[in-house]
Amino acid sequence: MKSLVIERTDLEKLFSTLVGRGYRLIGPTLREAAIVYGEIKTVNDLPIGWTDGQAAGQYRLQRRGDAALFGYNLGPHSWKKENLPPSLRLFSAERRDQSFVIIEEPADELPMAFIGARSCELHAISIQDRVLMQGPFVDPTYARRRNQTLVIAVNCGQAGGTCFCVSMKSGPQATQGFDIALTEVLDGHRHYFLTEVGTTRGAEILNDVPHRAARDVEKAAAQRIVDRTAATMGRKLYTGGLKEFLYSAYENPHWDDVAARCLSCANCTMVCPTCFCTTVEDVTDLSGAHAERWQKWDSCFTADFSYIHGGSVRSSTKSRYRQWLTHKLATWMDQFSTPGCVGCGRCITWCPTGIDITQEVVSLRERQPGRKEQSDGEP
Ligand code: SF4
Ligand code: SF4
Repeated sequence: MKSLVIERTDLEKLFSTLVGRGYRLIGPTLREAAIVYGEIKTVNDLPIGWTDGQAAGQYRLQRRGDAALFGYNLGPHSWKKENLPPSLRLFSAERRDQSFVIIEEPADELPMAFIGARSCELHAISIQDRVLMQGPFVDPTYARRRNQTLVIAVNCGQAGGTCFCVSMKSGPQATQGFDIALTEVLDGHRHYFLTEVGTTRGAEILNDVPHRAARDVEKAAAQRIVDRTAATMGRKLYTGGLKEFLYSAYENPHWDDVAARCLSCANCTMVCPTCFCTTVEDVTDLSGAHAERWQKWDSCFTADFSYIHGGSVRSSTKSRYRQWLTHKLATWMDQFSTPGCVGCGRCITWCPTGIDITQEVVSLRERQPGRKEQSDGEP
């Protein structure tokens, strides 16, 4: 892949080119004491000079000592809120003359351009693609949004305290799923973006943005940044034999320990970029002349989720956490030929009691009846 350089001073031109071509820009921005994804217009809407400190159950914004645009790790939002909105009206119905008519929802007005997607997030998107548009049942809204969305990826310049993408082989360098990928380099007085093109559409857009071929020294500087990120992951997860292990661990005593800490609040599933479960709700107005069907995010942590005639299949918190973790790291492999976890660390950071999927796996392995003592889950 040919490497190019866009100077920091020319990045605004990339944004204005996208806007000029009719894209709605969605990217990182500061809001409610976090870096979240929202509509942005210019480079100045990015979280310039901000980063974050993350640990289990902790997230704090912090000032950087420089003017990096993408010098943060992932916040509570993921791109799934754009591709698969948390709340979406599917259609309405109006009573007319002893009958009713269905009113379809209008298609989205503008295609989106995702600015700043990280490698683990691109893997999460491709996992959701497999579930929601590449199987026998296609979600039409999801498919429409995905097919028209442009992706500008950014390689991670630092690892967060709860990141473990290296363990999940999903980062930190973007290798698929982008139109354009950037590595932000701040080197003394220089500030530029090593740029790679992933698609013809990305190449066409770059025709309108000042750029030049990258020099070897610039390529090496960008590679050092990604290598340093890979070497400083905040967490790791040993995945060897994990699926088989979890299939043998249904009666492991550690599930009771997690259940004593878990609030069954569903935060982990809301922030997870691969969780895709939804439910539908029908509502009517008081006259009964207007009805709507809404699709809303759902979670395997609620009692209602597994309710079938007569009661909930997973009535205890223990059974729900066991279902969630086992699905992420074992049964998902059988369903979709990939784990349901990309190592983004969000479920660790945003769990109010600091439950840590990587640590729980270590504890499960250590406490598995009949297994020899282990230190960090590795044999
Ligand atoms: S399970 Fe946790 S670490 Fe894995 S993708 Fe979901 S939120 Fe990220
Ligand atoms: S593991 Fe944490 S975030 Fe998930 S449901 Fe339990 S308490 Fe909530």
